[in-house]
Amino acid sequence: MVPVRSSPILIPGLKTALTNIAPAPRLVVDLDIIRTNYRHLQALTPGAETAAVVKANAYGLGAEQVVPALADAGCRQFFVAHTSEGLEARQALGDRPGEVFVFNGFWPAETDTLHTAGLIPVINDLGQLQQLREHAPDLPCAIHFDTGMNRLGLDERETQRVLDEGLLDRLQVRQIMSHLACADEADHALNRQQLERFKAISGALPDIPASFANSAGVLLGPDYQFDVTRPGLALYAGAPAPGTGFDVCVRIEAPVLQVRMLQPGDSVGYGATWTADRPIRTATIAAGYADGILRACGEGGIARLNGQLVPILGRVSMDLISVDLSDFQGEVHPGDYVHVLGADLDALSEHAGTISYELLVRLGLRFNRVYKG
Ligand SMILES: *Cc1c(COP(=O)(O)O)cnc(C)c1O
Repeated sequence: MVPVRSSPILIPGLKTALTNIAPAPRLVVDLDIIRTNYRHLQALTPGAETAAVVKANAYGLGAEQVVPALADAGCRQFFVAHTSEGLEARQALGDRPGEVFVFNGFWPAETDTLHTAGLIPVINDLGQLQQLREHAPDLPCAIHFDTGMNRLGLDERETQRVLDEGLLDRLQVRQIMSHLACADEADHALNRQQLERFKAISGALPDIPASFANSAGVLLGPDYQFDVTRPGLALYAGAPAPGTGFDVCVRIEAPVLQVRMLQPGDSVGYGATWTADRPIRTATIAAGYADGILRACGEGGIARLNGQLVPILGRVSMDLISVDLSDFQGEVHPGDYVHVLGADLDALSEHAGTISYELLVRLGLRFNRVYKG
């Protein structure tokens, strides 16, 4: 598990635990928003079951807290990338019911671990399928068929063999799946092509639940939803398409350490890349790229104080950013909290030349993590 740094720090020889009481950056994750997003997805796809993708520590937000919240909202299927993440998800579930699928394939050396922890490997090629048939034919599994992404999954020729030779017949196949390469571009021709290929495969295996759509795939419509959907992002940080009723569950809250008055000609931060052309007020904030505010978020990135925009000035340092208070209405004092990400997640990701997924999974480890709900 990712260490949660809000716990008191113990120093050998001292009798009492020391708590960090100075204003420190915190990561606020609203579990109620995740539950609401889950129910919204389920309502959008009444004919399908909504699974949850919780890989990479639930997109950086904390699998230990997020997995039980999703289970409480009714989620019964969880997907991770690595077996170690599967173990974390299983631990987080505790006594709650839930299947845990591991995307990264079947490796015979892990058979006992998978069995004992009740993890379901997703088979990605014919070699893995043959190893499963040989070493662990009783182990529940899922099969990933590649329909055009050419990343993981049985290719066309392997798929044909599996179907022709009935290679799944005596296995415990809990699910067949495929993954869309371009779901966030609704008009992309590959979406239809992948859909037709997956329809043919699921048609040949009618008794096994089929799973195809990620978050953006769900929004492509009922054709794409099959028996199980596999959203990740929409659970945590809004939909790939605007106005679809999902909220961002996370924000960084970072304290103001200093308020400064700059004169024309004064520059800010490393490299002196931003220089004032007028007298302006700035605030220095205690969060930086060590906390996941990527360097690419600097100069033109946005943060908020009391809901008002306070643009980021100059370069992002490891532990600090500076923000522009010129248009800010009101008083600012050291200890006040500036918000980063939150409702601005998409805009800030775009400014940084990346996607919201990457900002989320790079959230740092030294935050006090606060879970609401
Ligand atoms: C990450 C992932 C998902 C979830 O994708 P989102 O875009 O976050 O909804 C679904 N399926 C597979 C195979 C994935 O790797």
